[in-house]
Amino acid sequence: AAELDGLTAVVTGGASGIGLATATLLAERGARVAVLDLDPSAVPEPLLGFTADVSDDASVSGAVEAAAEALGGIDILVNNAGIGAIGTVADNPDEQWLRVLDVNLVGVVRTTRAALPHLRRSTRASVVNLGSIVVTTGLPQRALYAASKGAVHSLTLSMAADHVREGIRVNCVSPGTVDTPWVGRLLDAADDPAAERAALNARQPHGRLVTPEEVAAAIAYLVSPAAGSTTGMTLQVDGGMANL
Ligand code: NAD
Repeated sequence: AAELDGLTAVVTGGASGIGLATATLLAERGARVAVLDLDPSAVPEPLLGFTADVSDDASVSGAVEAAAEALGGIDILVNNAGIGAIGTVADNPDEQWLRVLDVNLVGVVRTTRAALPHLRRSTRASVVNLGSIVVTTGLPQRALYAASKGAVHSLTLSMAADHVREGIRVNCVSPGTVDTPWVGRLLDAADDPAAERAALNARQPHGRLVTPEEVAAAIAYLVSPAAGSTTGMTLQVDGGMANL
């Protein structure tokens, strides 16, 4: 039998990049998977797509309920939806700070709150939140994004402590620079995208960008029964950038 046979999973932001790779891998390993995204219309089968905006509580809770009904419960939640922000503390107005925190931090809270009653009914429940290299490594021009992801790391620890006795594990994956449409958009905005990509590769200790599939594999491990004693942990998938 496949490792995740009989399990059900919800992946936010699962229509692109890391989320899509994760939803696809969880399904390959036997889980039934629902993707919650602003626009899930292009999500391939067998993934189930549900429209949701994690910055809108009614939208998220409605989509989580619809997904739980379609899947017959929720064992696995991957809080992956997120947006980027460039700049120092001098560069972004309050509205932009509140917007990024609303999506990247409170979005995790809203989705988890909606999924908790379903996770509590599962005997193999776990949550994975998406952190980032910026939490442990100071990178220029990432003040707002780093603050939002740092909060997600702290939240992961608190959530793990709050729910461990209910049998719900909560972990975090902390990617370096991953080759997703998000990073593609940043490169396309450069004067010379090819040169920028080469420079970006050269900045990675292992000489290349992380692939979405590598991040998905880390998430698939953390939600698997094999990781049944792992909670409150952060797994770095960054080619060594945080530690080397
Ligand atoms: P991406 O832009 O390719 O995909 C993000 C998905 O989230 C999109 O499908 C988008 O529609 C969805 N989304 C955005 N806002 C949403 C909202 N309000 N409600 C619902 N869905 C929403 O991004 P990615 O690179 O795959 O990043 C995914 C996650 O990984 C993010 O949390 C990001 O912070 C994190 N991450 C990415 C990198 C990287 O280098 N790409 C590095 C570290 C962490």
